[in-house]
Amino acid sequence: SGTLYIVATPIGNLDDLSARAARVLSEVNLIAAEDTRHSGRLLQHLGIDKPMWALHDHNERDRATGLLDRVEKGESVALISDAGTPLISDPGFVLVREARARGIPVSPVPGPCALVAALSAAGLPTDRFLFEGFLPAKAGARAKALQALSRETATLVFYESPRRIQDLVAELATCFGPDRQVVLARELTKAFETFYSGTTGEVLEAIVGDENSGKGEYVVMVAGAAPERTTDALVEADQVLRLLLPELP
Ligand code: SAM
Repeated sequence: SGTLYIVATPIGNLDDLSARAARVLSEVNLIAAEDTRHSGRLLQHLGIDKPMWALHDHNERDRATGLLDRVEKGESVALISDAGTPLISDPGFVLVREARARGIPVSPVPGPCALVAALSAAGLPTDRFLFEGFLPAKAGARAKALQALSRETATLVFYESPRRIQDLVAELATCFGPDRQVVLARELTKAFETFYSGTTGEVLEAIVGDENSGKGEYVVMVAGAAPERTTDALVEADQVLRLLLPELP
């Protein structure tokens, strides 16, 4: 059998494509892409001319079967998405699950990923984080999803479109309170890369006052909630205090 390669591509700066990614893309028999026109431009820039198949959310199941039949017969296929790492808020899950089920080798060619790039430079804790992708578009469902996350102690990471960024930061202020730290990473690796950080209120003020904030792509990061003190910890602290009190001057 051939191999299915999952290849990360740039999230803005074309120089971020790895040497290995370029080599794999030039060696495979076929490239499956979310949008063949968009990816065609990247391949043209790299001087690569390959047959391409479109693979998106609506045809992934059908396409997966055809693609994997070819890999089983010995061809190699690379999956790419419009930007960054496939399967991360992008198509490919059905294809990879099916490949694994059929015992077909799947090999990642790692590289750019907006959420990792954003976290690496935000200055928020990264030891534990929860990637939530895109929140639901409808107001009620969004509020509910945020409410469910309000006591989460890990750093939260979201993807958001520029159209909704102001609304989202306002919703964060409502759900998580005005003091929660937020970092927005806009246009990562591109000419107008910008980080906004501060409390929900400060960041809201900053983007409302920035005429460019309505353009570009965003990763939204929110510091986790302070850990809740458990009843056990409170009881223990109370006992320690009782023991210490008589000894205090
Ligand atoms: N698969 C991609 C990855 O690895 O990050 C993500 C694809 S998702 C459809 C697109 C979202 O990723 C955008 O709406 C934005 O939230 C985020 N994103 C992608 N490129 C970005 C960039 N250069 N700067 C900030 N956010 C970016």
